[in-house]
Amino acid sequence: MAKVKTDRREFVKYSTLGILGAVLAGSIVFSPQAIKAENRLRPPGAVEEDRFLALCIKCGQCLQVCPYHSIKLADIGMGHGVGSPYIDATERGCYACSAVPCVLACPSGALDHACEKPEDIHMGMAVLEFPDRCLAMTNTPVPKGYNRFMHAFTDAQRNVTNLERELLEKLEGYEGKQCTLCADVCPIPNPLSAIAMVPDKKGGKRPEIYDGCIGCGACEEVCPTHTASIVVKPRVTYDEQYTNKS
Ligand code: SF4
Ligand code: SF4
Ligand code: SF4
Repeated sequence: MAKVKTDRREFVKYSTLGILGAVLAGSIVFSPQAIKAENRLRPPGAVEEDRFLALCIKCGQCLQVCPYHSIKLADIGMGHGVGSPYIDATERGCYACSAVPCVLACPSGALDHACEKPEDIHMGMAVLEFPDRCLAMTNTPVPKGYNRFMHAFTDAQRNVTNLERELLEKLEGYEGKQCTLCADVCPIPNPLSAIAMVPDKKGGKRPEIYDGCIGCGACEEVCPTHTASIVVKPRVTYDEQYTNKS
């Protein structure tokens, strides 16, 4: 049955350690192309990837002003773009602050100041990657303790903000209920333009993604399934993911 998020983090953590160990042992060779293909989620306003990597001076100002601790700098174990900022939505998505402070803080042009509000953000596109695991589609209640990791992540920060506390409060009360977490946490001012729970043919509900999705990854973070059922594909557009596929 559904495993809670703490299991997922342990898996990610130990998988990462395993890969790092393999690299150190020389059993994996990262070619520049293979590493680039990893395609990380960049902060709001990030220009096209090659320009982003050329422009970013790795100053860390974007992450210093992020009130959710969403942005991290790539460490040496990640191989490519060491020191460049990225968002790991399995740990903490972006919550699309109204004034986009990370963009305002960026001195280099790596984050484009034309990105002034949440609707201007285009980080990627949400996709229901594993519909067979989605709790809403399988009529499985949200498991107990599903948000334990989010509490642990927040507790680990030195300067927990009120916005982080409000986020945790918002996530209370879902246990044992039908899952609507991905749609409920979506930070787009009119969430119906990005995601909504719609009736499914099998009697459950399913999250449906619309072209207002900005790819922030908040839905991926809160999804309570062991591997998130809904994921964000970095830099993919709505048309690329949905319109051109039917
Ligand atoms: S503020 Fe801009 S230049 Fe500095 S690390 Fe962030 S993206 Fe790079
Ligand atoms: S659907 Fe998910 S990725 Fe898209 S804007 Fe809403 S929370 Fe962000
Ligand atoms: S958060 Fe969304 S995708 Fe994940 S289980 Fe709940 S309804 Fe399904």
